[in-house]
Amino acid sequence: MTKPIQITSSSMPDFNEYIKEIKDLWESKWLTNQGEKHNQLEKRLTDYLDTKNIALFSNGHLALEYIIETFQLSGEVITTPFTFASTTHAIVRKGLTPIFTDINPDDYTMQTDNLESLITEKTSAIIPVHVYGNICNVKKIEQLAKKYNLKVIYDAAHAFGITLNGESVANFGDASMFSFHATKVFHTIEGGALTFKDSNLKNRIDSYKNFGITGPESVEFIGGNAKMNEFQAAMGLCNIRNVDREIEKRKLVYARYIEKLSGIAGIRLPYISKGVVSNYAYFPILFNSFKIREEMYQEFLEQGINTRKYFYPLTSQLECYQSQFTPNHTPVALQVSQQILTLPLYADLSFEQVDRICNVIEGIKVKGS
Ligand SMILES: *Cc1c(COP(=O)(O)O)cnc(C)c1O
Repeated sequence: MTKPIQITSSSMPDFNEYIKEIKDLWESKWLTNQGEKHNQLEKRLTDYLDTKNIALFSNGHLALEYIIETFQLSGEVITTPFTFASTTHAIVRKGLTPIFTDINPDDYTMQTDNLESLITEKTSAIIPVHVYGNICNVKKIEQLAKKYNLKVIYDAAHAFGITLNGESVANFGDASMFSFHATKVFHTIEGGALTFKDSNLKNRIDSYKNFGITGPESVEFIGGNAKMNEFQAAMGLCNIRNVDREIEKRKLVYARYIEKLSGIAGIRLPYISKGVVSNYAYFPILFNSFKIREEMYQEFLEQGINTRKYFYPLTSQLECYQSQFTPNHTPVALQVSQQILTLPLYADLSFEQVDRICNVIEGIKVKGS
């Protein structure tokens, strides 16, 4: 029996490296609340992401909720439904109304051709997603935001370390949210961060994630609790040392897929836009129809290969939203969600495993023809 192939596999530092990193904690007994590890990681990430301002969080989702609060957004937020539940949930949980716009058929990020027509008196922000690490049309989005005085917050959960024409993805818009969840390219087990343009916000954001405390006897904001603890930060300190090597290995896997799958009719492969240095986080392929995607998903399962219908369904179709939204208004997103399948991709995936996955795709094409 060949071993099953998982969709993802968390990168792990050397066991002893992590033990060494957490050893101090038994002496300091300082386990959370802006500890030594937390502060070191903030510094390391400021360098790595080539950005000015960063705040670490217990996870990416809360980072998104907290920046919405920090900006005191209200009314409507323009966003896309082709994303993880988190993006839409953050908007709704903060009492805002998501206004869904469609995605581009090529890179799956927010369309910008008729974005302007969606802006109303009530619009306070745009929250686009750098889907699979494809960078949004940041120029157009920021131009509109400036014209209408809107905040731009990017969901950059997929985009850790990516650059566009040499500029770090962390520096677009007013703020960006990164997820350091175990399944992401860089992780702290659970964790996340905000990067943001306005340095004056640093104290306020740090205080919001710690109950709004601003001094020993002073609580200025109705904050919550979303702090990154020292064990998470220690994992981050180990993983950041290895992340470039991890991305190099992912790149080889990605290239193997491209080599094996190029020229197969009926599927569309991912591509990396001009000027982008990718982190090779995902390998989404688009089939010709919903039917074939469903068949492929089953076929993979039978062969012990776990793929993921990511993102499916659209967040606008989730049962918790009880048909409040109209998925037909975003036809491209609807179609892509029905035809997309992401294949396993991680640093330790062997070429042999990649070939096994690719053979399944070749097989079904022969059967279907
Ligand atoms: C992972 C992810 C999130 C949420 O991040 P967590 O750290 O798991 O809370 C949000 N948006 C997208 C697009 C994601 O992939």
